[in-house]
Amino acid sequence: MTTLNQTFTTEQKEYLAGFFAGASQRGFSPFLGKKSDGKYTADTESSSSGAEVLYGTPVDDLCKEERIKLEKNGLDAYEDILRHAESNMMPDGPDVFRFKFYGLFNVAPAQENLMLRCRIPGGIMRSHQLVGMAEMAEEWAGGYSHITTRANFQLREIQPKNAVKVLDKLVDLGLTSRGAGADNLRNITGSATSGIDPDEVYDVQPLTRAMHHLILNTREFYGLPRKFNISFDGGGAMSVCADTNDIAFYAVRVGEGKAVEPGIYFRVQLAGITGHKQFAKDCGILIKPGQCLAVAAAMIRVFIENGDRTNRKKARLKYLIDKWGDQKFVEETESKLDFDLVRMELKECDSRRSIKRHSHLGIHPQLQEGLSYVGVRVPVGKMLPEQMKSVASLAERFGSGEIRLTVWQNLLITNVRNEDVDTLVAEVEKIGFDCKADPILGGIIACTGNFGCKYASADTKSNAVELGDYLKKEVEMDLPINIHVTGCQHSCAQHYIGDIGMQSVKVKVGDESVEGYSVVIGGGVDNEQAVAKEVFKSVPFTEIKPLVAKIMNSYLSQRDAGQSFVEF
Ligand code: SF4
Repeated sequence: MTTLNQTFTTEQKEYLAGFFAGASQRGFSPFLGKKSDGKYTADTESSSSGAEVLYGTPVDDLCKEERIKLEKNGLDAYEDILRHAESNMMPDGPDVFRFKFYGLFNVAPAQENLMLRCRIPGGIMRSHQLVGMAEMAEEWAGGYSHITTRANFQLREIQPKNAVKVLDKLVDLGLTSRGAGADNLRNITGSATSGIDPDEVYDVQPLTRAMHHLILNTREFYGLPRKFNISFDGGGAMSVCADTNDIAFYAVRVGEGKAVEPGIYFRVQLAGITGHKQFAKDCGILIKPGQCLAVAAAMIRVFIENGDRTNRKKARLKYLIDKWGDQKFVEETESKLDFDLVRMELKECDSRRSIKRHSHLGIHPQLQEGLSYVGVRVPVGKMLPEQMKSVASLAERFGSGEIRLTVWQNLLITNVRNEDVDTLVAEVEKIGFDCKADPILGGIIACTGNFGCKYASADTKSNAVELGDYLKKEVEMDLPINIHVTGCQHSCAQHYIGDIGMQSVKVKVGDESVEGYSVVIGGGVDNEQAVAKEVFKSVPFTEIKPLVAKIMNSYLSQRDAGQSFVEF
């Protein structure tokens, strides 16, 4: 297995250290800087006209959220969270935005309390951390947790008086929620089978963790123009949906006879934002594994300096790249690096191996002889504290105490001795989960829905479970299908990448407004990349179940030999 020491050469480590140490001399400083008189100041500079500007934008033109950040960095909101805890008052005004720097969301009116989102780099956690999360869910939250599509945990129904207890316990567990919301770098995702997949190109786990720590320790990386997602794909069997991220690093092999030495490199894709029907696109560069962090850091800084801070709707990386073109973005990135970027066409690299759908479920041999990983299905990502504790205990008894969350809203128990696999699977069933790679149930993803999110028009999680149960009875699907049920255009469940995607809407039936969905079909990721297309608009949920069954049965009866759902 690759270790961090193997990933970076001494020279590269020195480079990274110097890169950040010299940041202020190169014109970058945190939002909250220290002046020579020792007083703290916001990161503003005086323009020649005397007006204050932030990264080139006059302060008068900044949008509301930028002004809130300028007034006080959200990283300094701990005292505000303490104050609200003492009075048990929900945050309001600018505090609503600042609390998100600590991963705390005021989700009223859907729920009159706070939601906590953590950071779990690469989704990898230890059993004691899962037990700790279960205790928090039990004691200070709503008695359940949700695994998210960024391989992360969310807890809900936290009263303000308990927010500090939750934050402090996270730290005690070696976890954090720092920057899990607002305009920050979100949980870093990486291939869930890093280091254990016999067919992967590169173990990205050290990169995922190093990126996580780089963010946590770099104050200037908070308060970006907008949220920002980064993912590392090691080229193995399981998709991490990296091409839905702002920056996606894909491990590739380069063979003999090319412009570079044969070996393992990374391709860099930019500006994925599937809610806007856009996948990240390859930007034409080839980098070494040890260069990934420096390139990511330089790209983040280009975005910090040049992203739109006047219009929230145009602030994501996509819009900067739409304005500049990806090559200008790459040139600006290169200007912040002390090495040249190698340009090489994607077709010069070996193709990515095909993805094995639903390999997040069931029993799979690991790279390590005698060991397997077991994918546990967690319907729509919901876990009760007792189930969390039981999973932690099973990981201890049969594995190495490691649990890996995936972007498919489920979990893996890793390093299970082959002779214990059957017993483990039986024990998993006793706690209400299963390990079956069911072609329909194994690919159902759902966002929070109106149960806990004010943007949703329907109870997506409950509807998704009900739909899955119905389809199981009505359709004899013979290949793995992904169904993504999302509550609104923010697309947290990424409906445009599903074979079948659904976005909730309110539908008028007579005088009544009922829960319904618009339906898209034909989406996929990675080497099945496709944006699903709308086929039905505003259908009441009561009619959705037979409709989706009909779509699936039409595929089964009319497909050509070997034709996938994406191609249908
Ligand atoms: Fe809420 Fe919309 Fe995200 Fe669903 S997709 S959790 S409704 S913001």
